[in-house]
Amino acid sequence: MLIFPLLNDTSRKIIHIDMDAFFAAVEIRDNPRLKGKPVIIGSDPRKTGGRGVVATCSYEARAFGIHSAMSSKEAYQRCPQAIFIPGNYEKYLKVGQQIREIFLRYTDLIEPMSIDEAYLDVTENKLGIRSAVKIARLIQNDIWQELHLTASAGVSYNKFLAKMASDFQKPQGLTVILPDHAEDFLKQMDVAKFHGVGRKTVEKLHSMNVFTGADLQKIPETTLIDHFGRLGFDLYRKARGIHNSAVKPNRIRKSIGKEKTYGKLLRLEEDIKKELTLLSNKVALNLQKHKKSGKIIILKIRYADFSTITKRRTLKEVTQNTDDIAQTAIQLYESLVEKDKAIRLLGVTVTGF
Ligand SMILES: [Mg+2]
Repeated sequence: MLIFPLLNDTSRKIIHIDMDAFFAAVEIRDNPRLKGKPVIIGSDPRKTGGRGVVATCSYEARAFGIHSAMSSKEAYQRCPQAIFIPGNYEKYLKVGQQIREIFLRYTDLIEPMSIDEAYLDVTENKLGIRSAVKIARLIQNDIWQELHLTASAGVSYNKFLAKMASDFQKPQGLTVILPDHAEDFLKQMDVAKFHGVGRKTVEKLHSMNVFTGADLQKIPETTLIDHFGRLGFDLYRKARGIHNSAVKPNRIRKSIGKEKTYGKLLRLEEDIKKELTLLSNKVALNLQKHKKSGKIIILKIRYADFSTITKRRTLKEVTQNTDDIAQTAIQLYESLVEKDKAIRLLGVTVTGF
């Protein structure tokens, strides 16, 4: 039984471009001696006493099971001969801008997801090219010829499928998913690889005996909505290649934050600190997802009488770490004069990227 109608817009031409091992590729390009070696962008655990995480790494390092967000310490244990390079983010931003200029030759409808990833809507494009596959190839070629870097591309009729397609074959891949093939493509796909499906959702799906797209296609919409709410609604559609969200241009994030309104007002210091930790954790995950780090932490509080205050603190270094953010948010809360007023809303934001 279907509760909501299935509207599938297959008229658009969407490309997802994802640079291959971006930070590492830029470093290798600029220092040919690194070529063919396991290169890790992240602080060297031997110099930081084991701290730090892998921002990205070359494919040679990936062969040792190293991946982004892994601790530098573990990466070192897996591959002691790896070359650790501290990130030069200003340089990567500059290259990111050059990539964007290439995109702009084809379309203004660009939605950057992070410094090395973007969706492009080329349904109507500046060069009047009908084939989105041809545009994807031209973009890959421009990036290679002009910047000496490689990108993977996915082409389809919506963002979800374009993203799944660009992930399908890396590096230097070009994968196309046509409307008639979307369901089959998704059938063989591991649900853990569905874009937008987090680890907890995957665990829950596994407990429902859902491991592949084909398994997911068999679950009724009502069941998915019962278990996952709005996400279940989306999952039912994504399993069928339906995802109508538009490419939203120029969404370069300047801050990442999370706020929550409490139906039951918060009064106890203990509860408030717990909520601040939860919010900080969500912000940290989002920062990590978007490969952002910031040094300014902002706490927002709205009291029962709707008066609202914000407090901010600048850290010495940028962070995307839950503990750093939570500790700072709690310190900001502790610095407040009026701690006995009931709270209606809490917000934690990180900016200063
Ligand atoms: Mg990438």
